[in-house]
Amino acid sequence: MTVQHLLLVVPGAPGAAAHLVEADAQHPQLSVLDVAATRGDGIFETLSTGRGHAQALQAHLDRFARSARMLDLPAPDLAVWGDAVLALAQRLDDHDEAWVKIVLSRGIETPGVAALPTGWAYGTVSPDFRRERTEGVDVVLLDRGLRSDVSATSPWLLAGAKTLSYAVNRAAVREAQRRGADDVVFVSSDGLLLEGPTSSLVIRRGDELATPPDALGILPGTTQVDLFAAADQWGLRTVVEPLTPDDLRAADAAWLVSSVRHAAPLRTVDGAPLPVDAPLSAAMNGFLRARTA
Ligand code: PLP
Repeated sequence: MTVQHLLLVVPGAPGAAAHLVEADAQHPQLSVLDVAATRGDGIFETLSTGRGHAQALQAHLDRFARSARMLDLPAPDLAVWGDAVLALAQRLDDHDEAWVKIVLSRGIETPGVAALPTGWAYGTVSPDFRRERTEGVDVVLLDRGLRSDVSATSPWLLAGAKTLSYAVNRAAVREAQRRGADDVVFVSSDGLLLEGPTSSLVIRRGDELATPPDALGILPGTTQVDLFAAADQWGLRTVVEPLTPDDLRAADAAWLVSSVRHAAPLRTVDGAPLPVDAPLSAAMNGFLRARTA
């Protein structure tokens, strides 16, 4: 992946606004002492852009602020972060599908001195996801090892925050690949379906779309919310409720949905085939690609 555009989001002095500084994405910009690099102590968002528009921008900014609160980071100046996203979206406006990532780290740890956060935003062209969106993906169910009430019992585990600590999520995908699959649906230790490592789970049962609730300690998905808001145009009702692996195996169709790949239908779960709803997958992906806000 070649990053094409990079902006540094420089925090202001106390009381002053942050500002954006152009930077060269081909050269190192981050200190080796930054806790983003040494501890994964920070937050991020990834959103899709197309032809200069940023998709679900406000929802991503709101979730960025929510993650900052969960990690006790200083509240990000959302106007400046929004400007960074839009500036990058503009620079990628030749492309139908691109993405922008915004990152806020706690900064450089110096004993006795409050760290100044480090922020940056970069964007590039999206990969070609046509195969995943049409043929679908093979998934395995993996135990996340956390109970479904983890948010209430152990908020320090940051379940449902979008932190930089994605090593576990990536390890889960490698485990899926070892098992001959592409992706993962995490299951809580008490047997409820959760989410993918980088996506939300949506299933169709008849004329109803269902997804698990955020209260189970999963990331509130912006793509899932936009799809549910659009569902009645496809004659579908929506419900947010706890789901089990049996619900997935009995579903009429299911998808992993996320900002950049959009809706990837599941074609097998632990090797057992699941129906791929090609017309609805195409309709969902057409809708998601066409969003201008
Ligand atoms: N769940 C997790 C763990 C994720 O990392 C992501 C996105 O990266 C999602 C769900 C889907 O969120 P969104 O639709 O906002 O991209």
